[in-house]
Amino acid sequence: MNAHQVEGCVFLCFFVWLMSLFITSLNSGSNGNCYYVGNSNEAVLVDAGISCKEIEIRMKRLGLEIGKVKAIFISHEHSDHIKGVELFSKKHQVPVYVTDATRRNGRIKLEKHLSFGFTATVPVCIGSLSITAFSKFHDAADPYSFMISHNGVNVGVFTDIGTPCANLIHHFKQCHAAFLESNYDEEMLAKGGYPYYLKKRITGGQGHLSNSQALSIFREHKPSHMTHLLLSHLSSNNNRPEIVEALFSKHANGVRTIVASRHQETEIFQITSEPHLQTAIQRALKPAQLQLAF
Ligand SMILES: [Zn+2]
Ligand SMILES: [Zn+2]
Repeated sequence: MNAHQVEGCVFLCFFVWLMSLFITSLNSGSNGNCYYVGNSNEAVLVDAGISCKEIEIRMKRLGLEIGKVKAIFISHEHSDHIKGVELFSKKHQVPVYVTDATRRNGRIKLEKHLSFGFTATVPVCIGSLSITAFSKFHDAADPYSFMISHNGVNVGVFTDIGTPCANLIHHFKQCHAAFLESNYDEEMLAKGGYPYYLKKRITGGQGHLSNSQALSIFREHKPSHMTHLLLSHLSSNNNRPEIVEALFSKHANGVRTIVASRHQETEIFQITSEPHLQTAIQRALKPAQLQLAF
């Protein structure tokens, strides 16, 4: 490659980087949920269900700047989604977007100037990120899931869902990447020691998605542009990462499937609407040339 071609590739590489979303699960499971979605300038957290300190530690380990987090969106009031929100918001002066019903039921106390509402299907703009909420079936006061968009790239955060409803399918079909709940293995739950009422709560349409429900959504509604699927909110008693990994990798068809851990952060994934262009550029450039783009 001559100097002009290298320069062109570096420019393209930088352009793809600017148009990308960067995502990671800081923790995922009934012990705490916190998902990071951002571009090169700003980011949002969906839920803050681990402590403020853990969010800080895990972001630092990944090299993510806290200052880039411009908002937190809260899906519902269960403690595994709100544990660290008050302190993180107060300490870092980050606005929180939460509905009145969720705030009341979760007894979430926020500084007045940092508390905002949102309405289903009406996008909220945070810098050049656009966040759209939609309602879902879950046993909480006013539960929502979110899709975050940036320059035509869409990332969904879809956990704590009792029924694979039309709203979920509609948004899933638009995503380049999604955090999708794969909460329990049906056989493990049925044979396990949970009391009957709890089994009923989990499977009863207002609880969580099973592995086979999540797999059906993926197989039947995966858009051709989807590149990453992060299986999320696994139960510790009624599921195992190996089961989910084996199940989804069989049907991945070129989509990168990752099981999000309930103990630590995942790596950061770059999500772009031009994955083939990105791969081609990266193959064409030597590492030193690639560095020039950033
Ligand atoms: Zn949850
Ligand atoms: Zn929940």
